[in-house]
Amino acid sequence: AGREGAVSGEQQVERWADAGIAEVVEEPYYLPVGDEVEIFEAAYARRLPVMLKGPTGVGKTRFLRYMAYRLGRPLVTVACHDDLTASDLLGRYLIRGNETVWIDGPLTHAVRIGAICYLDEIVEARKDTTVVIHPLTDDRRRLRLEKTGELIVAPPEFLLVISYNPGYQSLMKNLKPSTRQRFVAIDFNFPPPEVETEIVVHESGVDRATAEALVKLAGLIRNLSDSGLEEPASTRLLVYAGHLIRSGVSPRRACDLAIAAPITDDPTVQAAVRDLVATVF
Ligand code: ADP
Repeated sequence: AGREGAVSGEQQVERWADAGIAEVVEEPYYLPVGDEVEIFEAAYARRLPVMLKGPTGVGKTRFLRYMAYRLGRPLVTVACHDDLTASDLLGRYLIRGNETVWIDGPLTHAVRIGAICYLDEIVEARKDTTVVIHPLTDDRRRLRLEKTGELIVAPPEFLLVISYNPGYQSLMKNLKPSTRQRFVAIDFNFPPPEVETEIVVHESGVDRATAEALVKLAGLIRNLSDSGLEEPASTRLLVYAGHLIRSGVSPRRACDLAIAAPITDDPTVQAAVRDLVATVF
């Protein structure tokens, strides 16, 4: 029996084609932190590609879903990984019966239908993928399919959006200046406490006092200097802790499970985080 989720590149492409990879987004809950909504709308109006920049779990994906909804465009999301090739984005020939048919990849599909295409964590993908997106980001906005000889000009509705986490930056995995300078960068960071409290209340359903305590805890963790943490507690983790508390797990245990353990494997740092938890709950 095949493992659920383990599919070959070909199967994946077929799934995209069959399932209609573009998603019509229903109104998601999104609480703006600054002027990101206006900036995005301005970029969209001017057809400028957008880079959502910031650590994990601070609302980049949620924001883009919200914008797709607001702008009334379908959303095509590709979670990039280190096996992702240009063909995975563009498409490939497949044998169907005794016929060879071309199947569009998600990027090609997005360009054809004028969707918003979100390449999540683009740095993770193989280097040849960034070359593919370059012609789409200049004013010609073209996509060339070498294998079919087709040249597709993106309709005005199409927009390319990438996310980028500078925290993961390494020598091997870094966006080249020639790529990053093709995008308008919108910065995401931990929301201010009032906003983050509101988000935690809304998303997890905990009472305000509990949400405030979680946000306070996050502030303490984020201020730990030399903690050795790759990334401190994100808004997402606070929401997770909130969900556990709502389900009846004690706040300390919830913070242990949803915050201390996920952010670090180092027992000393975990102990330090637990000490902070004890000051809040
Ligand atoms: P990222 O894409 O940056 O990794 P997500 O968009 O998945 O992060 O955000 C993680 C979670 O945090 C969301 O599922 C949502 O519950 C919450 N969240 C973060 N910021 C906001 C926000 N501004 N408005 C609403 N929810 C938010």
